[in-house]
Amino acid sequence: MDPFADTLRRLREAFRSGRTRTAEFRAAQLKGLGRFLEENKQLLRDALAQDLHKSSLEADVSEIIMCENEVNLAMKNLSCWMKDEPVSTNMFTKLSSAFIRKEPYGLVLIVAPWNYPVNLMLVPLVGALAAGNCVVLKPSEISKNTEKVLAEVLPQYLDQGCFAVMLGGPEETGQLLENRFDYIFFTGSPRVGKIVMAAAAKHLTPVTLELGGKNPCYVDDDCDPQTVANRVVWFRYFNAGQTCVAPDYVLCSRETQERLLPAMQSAITRFYGDDPKSSPNLGRIVGERQFQRLQGLLGCGRVAIGGQSDESERYIAPTVLVDVQESEPVMQEEIFGPILPVVNVQGLAEAVDFITRREKPLALYAFSNNSQVVNHLLEQTSSGSFGGNDGFVYQTLSSLPFGGVGHSGMGNYHGKFSFDTFSHHRACLLSHPGLEKLHEVRYPPYSDHRRQL
Ligand code: NAD
Repeated sequence: MDPFADTLRRLREAFRSGRTRTAEFRAAQLKGLGRFLEENKQLLRDALAQDLHKSSLEADVSEIIMCENEVNLAMKNLSCWMKDEPVSTNMFTKLSSAFIRKEPYGLVLIVAPWNYPVNLMLVPLVGALAAGNCVVLKPSEISKNTEKVLAEVLPQYLDQGCFAVMLGGPEETGQLLENRFDYIFFTGSPRVGKIVMAAAAKHLTPVTLELGGKNPCYVDDDCDPQTVANRVVWFRYFNAGQTCVAPDYVLCSRETQERLLPAMQSAITRFYGDDPKSSPNLGRIVGERQFQRLQGLLGCGRVAIGGQSDESERYIAPTVLVDVQESEPVMQEEIFGPILPVVNVQGLAEAVDFITRREKPLALYAFSNNSQVVNHLLEQTSSGSFGGNDGFVYQTLSSLPFGGVGHSGMGNYHGKFSFDTFSHHRACLLSHPGLEKLHEVRYPPYSDHRRQL
């Protein structure tokens, strides 16, 4: 007995009725989502604080405001995005009209992780609603306070005939994935991404996979150590390091490492105080399992900064590790916590070799006063996104696509890219019903003369 079958049947019928296709319906849903964000800001902040000890400011800038901006952008551009896109014709289709129609896929499933549980659930939802789909949301069971708000409050703001939230962990999600969807948008680990893609393949369902990996951060000898340290510390320890685009490790020479370490210590003290544990600005590890895994990683290499932890609060201090071996777990798996190993390389060529021997990362960062160094890394490597002399602020630009490549994912979203992701691009050619004389040339029997055409 499939517990999801009735709801999915209902949503499918709602899609077939055609009501999600109109611009008015889409705009009403986006407006509802905007109202949800506006009226439940504090509820969301509280839930994020309970799940991740997220500060109000981090909750606002990295979750709520990003969703609001996406809603506003979609509302403003909806009619323009929905328009047919005319394309050029050739001599055989001169009198016809050729265009691309963006049509909704149908029933869409969006599965989200726990680290930005509002942003990573609702930003894709904006695209799916704007594109006119019926939507099933599956939030992470690990960020359980946010999951509760999404399941109990959000549906009050959307048409429940066309939209549903379904709950559960790996087992229930596995069961949900046995059903047929018209599109699946998954954010999470590469391991589960493979499970999702295999389930989708059974129904030939297209997927977007927003995955993770190890993001390198190259720091050149020609740099101002304090400026680099400020930026790297901020975006490594934001959300207690539980950010898919955070730098996973620093690559630099031993000399630069010696200049960076005191600068990083100074940045950590400035941002989180002498006792980071009592800072309201530093997050906590989301759960016991994740805490234990990270604590295991603290034993790799040598602790240069931090290293303290407290299981009762799931606290791990902002930590920097040095003398790390490539074969150690901290360099084998995505860290996804407030631990930053520094790996020594001699120069740019060795850094490029180190990066390109590994899976393509979700993000890659390069710090140097010399723009040629930054450009060289951009030229010689591949990654979902690239940041020169800064962290993940590029994510705030809805004019840039956000997504991975290779092992870090496939497909992208944000802004209009989201609308396009959730729309099938249908090729259309509308010809004149008459003018048959002009068509005669195509029909057999083919004469030699015609073949020369
Ligand atoms: P996860 O893959 O464990 O879980 C993601 C979602 O999949 C959750 O909703 C979960 O319930 C579900 N799930 C878990 N196991 C499943 C299974 N066996 N079958 C079916 N569904 C299952 O990921 P997570 O721990 O929640 O998040 C951390 C990972 O997500 C990291 O790898 C991180 O890099 C990645 N991530 C990527 C992005 C991005 O935008 N590319 C953003 C955030 C996180």
